Amino acid sequence: MITFSYVTLFKSLISFYFEESILKRAIDKNLLGIEFFNPRDYTKNKHNKVDDYQAGGGAGLLMCPQPLFDTLKEIKKISPEAYFVFPAPAGKPFCQKDAKRLANKSHLVFVSGRYEGIDERVIEEFADEVFSIGDYVLTGGELASLVMSDAICRNIDGVLGNKDSLEEESFERDILEAPSFTKPAEFEGLRVPSEFLKGNHAKIANLKIEMAKLKTRYFRPDLYARINTR
Ligand code: SAM
Repeated sequence: MITFSYVTLFKSLISFYFEESILKRAIDKNLLGIEFFNPRDYTKNKHNKVDDYQAGGGAGLLMCPQPLFDTLKEIKKISPEAYFVFPAPAGKPFCQKDAKRLANKSHLVFVSGRYEGIDERVIEEFADEVFSIGDYVLTGGELASLVMSDAICRNIDGVLGNKDSLEEESFERDILEAPSFTKPAEFEGLRVPSEFLKGNHAKIANLKIEMAKLKTRYFRPDLYARINTR
């Protein structure tokens, strides 16, 4: 069982995602537990504020250290094995290898920034890892936390019905998954490659490898260059 804790001012932006499909089943099967912490519940500001102007000037507000320090200290006290993940545009790119690695932790804590972000001292003090989900700026860390949670969750043993599907997926061995097809064999004049219909599994496997390479070269020349220099 792995626990995902979300430190967020907006629980409802995250909780809805666990109400359907695979992640809901992971909770129902006790493979995953989720919990929420709102830094506003920890603020000592008499007006309940959790944000303030930037020291030295600058556009917009930042999340203050005190409410987050107290929230994260509390989590550490309850759960010494808690592993703190901060989504941030400045983080390293989150990738499939990270999703697999983090699926082996027992407790992940995702700390969502809002406004212009989080006072850097919080990140310096608590972050085990800082991840970006892409080169663009989101309004808050909730979506980024969900993206990472979803990718991590499907790598937890028992979450996916068919474990084999993980092994054939994109980014295994730095290559994209081969194009896939279902029934019917022909639809509006468009045919499934004939080799796929003949039942020779060795030939199909070889064809899939070649198609996966072509697809990678077309869509992700950066990945393709990597597989070709090994
Ligand atoms: N001022 C910050 C900057 O320029 O780097 C952007 C802050 S952003 C408006 C607010 C929050 O959204 C961040 O603290 C982070 O939690 C989240 N966020 C925004 N873009 C992200 C991205 N590409 N990857 C991960 N988290 C992101």
